[in-house]
Amino acid sequence: MTDTHTTTVAGVAVDTRHWIGGERVASAETFTDVSPIDGAVLGEIARGTAAEAAAAVAAAKAAFPGWAATPRAERARILHAVADGVEKRLEELAIVETCDNGALLRSHRRGVMPRVAHNFRFFADWLLKLGHEDFDTRGHTNHVSWDPAGPCVLITPWNAPLMLATWKVAPALAAGNTVVLKPAEWSPLTASLLADIAAEAGLPAGVLNVVQGYGAEIGDALTSHPDVRRISFTGSVPTARRIAASAAANLTPLSLELGGKSPLLVFADADLDLAVDLAVEQYDNAGQVCLAATRLLVEESVADEFTRRFVDRASRLVQGDPRDEATDIGPVVHPRQLERIDGFVQRALAAGARAVVGGRRKEGLYYAPTLLTGVAQDSEIVQEEVFGPVLTLQTFATEEEAVRLANGTRYGLAATVATGDRERAARVTARLVAGTVWVNCFFVRDLRAPFGGSRESGMGREGGTWSFDFYCDLKNTVTAPKGFKDHG
Ligand code: NAD
Repeated sequence: MTDTHTTTVAGVAVDTRHWIGGERVASAETFTDVSPIDGAVLGEIARGTAAEAAAAVAAAKAAFPGWAATPRAERARILHAVADGVEKRLEELAIVETCDNGALLRSHRRGVMPRVAHNFRFFADWLLKLGHEDFDTRGHTNHVSWDPAGPCVLITPWNAPLMLATWKVAPALAAGNTVVLKPAEWSPLTASLLADIAAEAGLPAGVLNVVQGYGAEIGDALTSHPDVRRISFTGSVPTARRIAASAAANLTPLSLELGGKSPLLVFADADLDLAVDLAVEQYDNAGQVCLAATRLLVEESVADEFTRRFVDRASRLVQGDPRDEATDIGPVVHPRQLERIDGFVQRALAAGARAVVGGRRKEGLYYAPTLLTGVAQDSEIVQEEVFGPVLTLQTFATEEEAVRLANGTRYGLAATVATGDRERAARVTARLVAGTVWVNCFFVRDLRAPFGGSRESGMGREGGTWSFDFYCDLKNTVTAPKGFKDHG
């Protein structure tokens, strides 16, 4: 149901306008937000232009001095109040996000939304620990401080909309910056709810602004704006190139969290059931996970047995409505994404790959979980990010070959190693090019650790102190032991 400025999704009222300077702002035009579950229209969302982008940056600029000067304890208190608001509205956020992007309701309830609240708590607490560093140079004091940088533009994707947005929003605000958040046009709703929650929590007007719209229409106006001091982007490599070109005008510092084509290396000495579980886990969120280990690299001697157990496990996955607690795999986010995924699979099949599992679309936006074998290392399906429930399986004979295949793409986001041999784990992980490496596990993440990608998977790291390093201007103040009147 929708009126001019609000829509009701699963009983939750969502304002469809921008949130700029503490006020709701409409645009002359709107775009239609559709649920991937059943094609239902969720709302008509404000379609931002350069004018709204400029207004949002101006609001962030105006609010910056006040927020930057707000004592840290007070900033932290407000961010904890935002976390309280997220927890209070957890069920609403979970169902709205599920309707919007098709990801599992059970994951939103139990994993994703609690982590959204945690993002605010974690960075609020870290802020209070973030001190300064002092050291001495021949009697001169060096005082290193983390100063807020200014208005930050945060641009985020649709696959985990609120989680990925708040990885950025929380540290940027904690650091004393103001923010313009541009959520993805395929999943715009929870960012609007976050604006409500933040306002209720007492975040001053203009500190958090949310602009909606198509990236191609509103993006440049945000990323080339001279008053923007940081740009943090999570999304695809082609968009990152455009943003980097646009930001170059002002040399605005960038943080880029991009795509991946991560490997799962399964050695013959691994616990094979564990390895199969790790492999099947890659279908989570219908494979729309940047970290997903979509390339299964399996030691030749166990490949047949691994494949047999994998097929057995994968055939028991329940695909269907993501609102149903029993569902393991929901729809993909958008018809364009479905076309893209199927295009990759059909081209791979035409080139000689074999679909051991799946390999086809189902009704609506559902794509059968797929495993392809008979794929060459230099083929499109092995080299390009599909961003769907599509895995490939290649075999290797030696550790050397496993590492070569694992590192053999232009990405370097993550890698997972399944082995029963600690020494092998140490040898192999040391040689993998990846921002995160998991051994006999997957997706375990601690916000204190750096997160990001090597090569074309990104630039910079987020998490813990690395987030504050990015969102702050680091300053070193060197003070001489002389020259002060009180020094005699
Ligand atoms: P996308 O690049 O198409 O869009 C991401 C965001 O960029 C959206 O908000 C979009 O509106 C905006 N955008 C588009 N054009 C723009 C422009 N010219 N200027 C400014 N903004 C613009 O990516 P997507 O399809 O939404 O997300 C999927 C991609 O994100 C995948 O490649 C995935 O691997 C990646 N991803 C990476 C991580 C990570 O942490 N490394 C996490 C999740 C997703």
